[in-house]
Amino acid sequence: MFFIDVIVPLSLPRTFTYSVSEAEFHYVEIGMRVAVPVKNKMYTSIVVSLHQTPPTLYEAREIHEILDDKPIVNSFQIEHWKWVASYYMCTLGEVYRTAMPSAFILESETIISQKKDIVVDEKSLTDDEFLIFEALQHQSSLKVQDVMAILNKKNVFPIIQKLLAKNVLSLQEELQEEYKPKLLRYIRLHETFSSDESLMNLLDSLKGAKQKETILAYFQLKAQEQKPISVKQVLAQAQVSTAVIKALIDKDIFEEYYIQEDRVTFHKNKKAIELMLSEIQQEAYDEIETLFKTKDVTLLHGVTASGKTEIYIKLIESFIATGKQVLYLLPEIALTTQLVSRLTAYFGNQVAVFHSKFSNNERVEVWHQVLEKSDKAKIVIGARSALFLPFSNLGLILIDEEHEQTFKQQDPAPRYHARDAAIVLAKAHKAKVVLGSATPSLETYFNAETKKYGLVTLAERFGKTPLPEVILVDLKENYFKKRMKGHFSQTLIENITEALNLREQVILFQNRRGFSPILECITCGHIPQCTSCNVSLTYHKFKNQLRCHYCGYAIAKPTHCHACSSVDIYTKGFGTEQIELELAALFPTKNIKRMDQDTTRGKFSFEKLIDSFKNREIDILVGTQMLAKGLDFDNVSLVGIMNADNMLYHPDFRAFERSFQMMTQVAGRAGRADKRGKVIIQTYSVNHNIIQQVTHNDFLGMYKEQLYERRIFQYPPFFRLIKITLKHQDYEKLKSGAMWMYQVMQQQLQIPVLGPEEPGINRIRNEYIRTIMIKIPQEVSIQTTKNTIQKIRNSFESISNYRAIKVVVNVDFY
Ligand code: ADP
Ligand code: ZN
Ligand code: ZN
Repeated sequence: MFFIDVIVPLSLPRTFTYSVSEAEFHYVEIGMRVAVPVKNKMYTSIVVSLHQTPPTLYEAREIHEILDDKPIVNSFQIEHWKWVASYYMCTLGEVYRTAMPSAFILESETIISQKKDIVVDEKSLTDDEFLIFEALQHQSSLKVQDVMAILNKKNVFPIIQKLLAKNVLSLQEELQEEYKPKLLRYIRLHETFSSDESLMNLLDSLKGAKQKETILAYFQLKAQEQKPISVKQVLAQAQVSTAVIKALIDKDIFEEYYIQEDRVTFHKNKKAIELMLSEIQQEAYDEIETLFKTKDVTLLHGVTASGKTEIYIKLIESFIATGKQVLYLLPEIALTTQLVSRLTAYFGNQVAVFHSKFSNNERVEVWHQVLEKSDKAKIVIGARSALFLPFSNLGLILIDEEHEQTFKQQDPAPRYHARDAAIVLAKAHKAKVVLGSATPSLETYFNAETKKYGLVTLAERFGKTPLPEVILVDLKENYFKKRMKGHFSQTLIENITEALNLREQVILFQNRRGFSPILECITCGHIPQCTSCNVSLTYHKFKNQLRCHYCGYAIAKPTHCHACSSVDIYTKGFGTEQIELELAALFPTKNIKRMDQDTTRGKFSFEKLIDSFKNREIDILVGTQMLAKGLDFDNVSLVGIMNADNMLYHPDFRAFERSFQMMTQVAGRAGRADKRGKVIIQTYSVNHNIIQQVTHNDFLGMYKEQLYERRIFQYPPFFRLIKITLKHQDYEKLKSGAMWMYQVMQQQLQIPVLGPEEPGINRIRNEYIRTIMIKIPQEVSIQTTKNTIQKIRNSFESISNYRAIKVVVNVDFY
């Protein structure tokens, strides 16, 4: 009797035992995939152990087939998955599902379809492959179980796997996710002007001096380098605006064209770049090296534009020189492009990128590169899921912008924090971790202060450029003295004008999208609400709609009040869209663009905006917190924060810390190598401590004050939080279930249990919500607490009246 234990990709609490033949037993290894039946469906599972003990509670079923000829998951990963499941209180199946590209986890229910825009060489397909291909000519998609029926066999996973690898098929979920390479805009002189004579005639005929200068600038560039000339280069050389280029294109003097800057084709070979750290960067680097001897984790606290990336590059260099793998985690997929080009310029094609927006094939490719320790993946850059790649020899993990909350996965389980999970992973590999930020999280700074982590500080910008000057504008006073135009103070308007006159760019930050948050009836005070969430709808002027930001529900803007039929309805508050409109009226000749969830929904639209901003095709960029991520622009001299108050007064214990981080980070986008930047903060609370701390770049002041509050009010880092969310459509049932759970927790846990609270937004997508917050003091065992919580959860599920209530556990709630 021979058995294997496997993880199935389902939310089931345990591993399962299946029986195998003796031959299979000697062939199969831990970390290989095996197709197994669960009920009447087929799943791809991962082998975690081999043994000869039959299960006691059930009869072991036979496996269907072994899918790999060598392991594709290593023991570091399996151990790490176990830790994630146990720490974040979820199942191994849920971790497995998140950890691996879905192309690896075929199951009966997986939906496949034919890849679009692809020519298939039918002769290259085997008979079985051809049958599937042919079936897809008649149906747009098939379930894997349909394929089983078509081929009249159960073992179809390997065939589908082959078709995926041959790029004939794709999985349903990635249909909308095809990778689009980014395009850069270039110009060249129209053919008509290729002779000297025609060119002279042209220059004579041009009236505008600017247009002439632009053409001359183009020739200067052409003389310097034979390469294609980008619009950005010409703009910088000629010191003109995009309007001039546009005019020349309209007149058929220049023609524009685009070149793909593919992730694989650009800077394929390492350039001979010599990176020299400045003196203080070198000191920081040396300190980190020294700390590596005694600390596993080091925080690099460096102000914005201090050159943290350059220090990371030097660290990476020293680690890969010893044959180790390096993982570089970023909070935001959109930041990877920028970083990849910086790193490939230095390391050539030893850099691999991995994130969820890549197609399955690309992710599978990187997975194999890491598994095989390929030279192409010595350095892996990625968003949080890159953590789960099959590293076997990690030397260093870098976590940039470690304070970003996007490192914490909210939904679905595992609700892991990539920073914390990375630290645990590093320990297993005996690797080092460097956390970097200009505005570290309180938790991390606390760990550094209490010497759990090493701390290295970089207090000045690279090139000693001073940090931006912060100017506060008191909104109350300005409205009172009628010094406002819409939402713009005179100070802000003047400074924008000045920056634009100097051909510098401007960023405006408004932490709210849409036109204005709500529509209100003056007669009766009615505010339109979402029908399935308990929240007010947001007015979007561009589409003339009211929309729910929680579920996407939208209606046309009403012409009269739905409650009292009055036509006196007006908008209250303001969002990015309204700022954009007001700007267009204030600066009609300027190119103004908006960056928020509404304008960046399409794939890579975020990158396109960033690119054209970098290429100086946009004069003013208005955006939400997306702008606060670590983007590096070289021509932004002014940053305006439209209204600091709506960040500050958010009902969340991290609101002040986040406001400080957000404002400091957006402010950090201002200033250039040769010029000090300016930041204008418009606020009703000029004397608020956070506003003052941002103004004086007083991170430590913010840290001390917030830490004090956290201690008093029992929050992290002094208490660990576990948030339990209960959801159900039936209000009364939910209320009584939540109360039951709260009371049992109260009795059994000797620590603070708060709730059951009805959150401000108490219904989303037709489900009512209640939350319970558990606060675990430092001296209490987390594991014991979790065990008790799990027991209570199990009893809850055994009560028939409560079984249908959804329970979501979020450990280290963010
Ligand atoms: P941070 O990540 O700390 O905000 P960056 O690494 O983006 O800062 O550096 C800010 C700017 O300074 C970048 O344009 C970078 O190229 C430049 N820079 C920093 N250090 C160096 C260096 N040692 N040599 C050349 N340029 C540098
Ligand atoms: Zn009304
Ligand atoms: Zn809704």
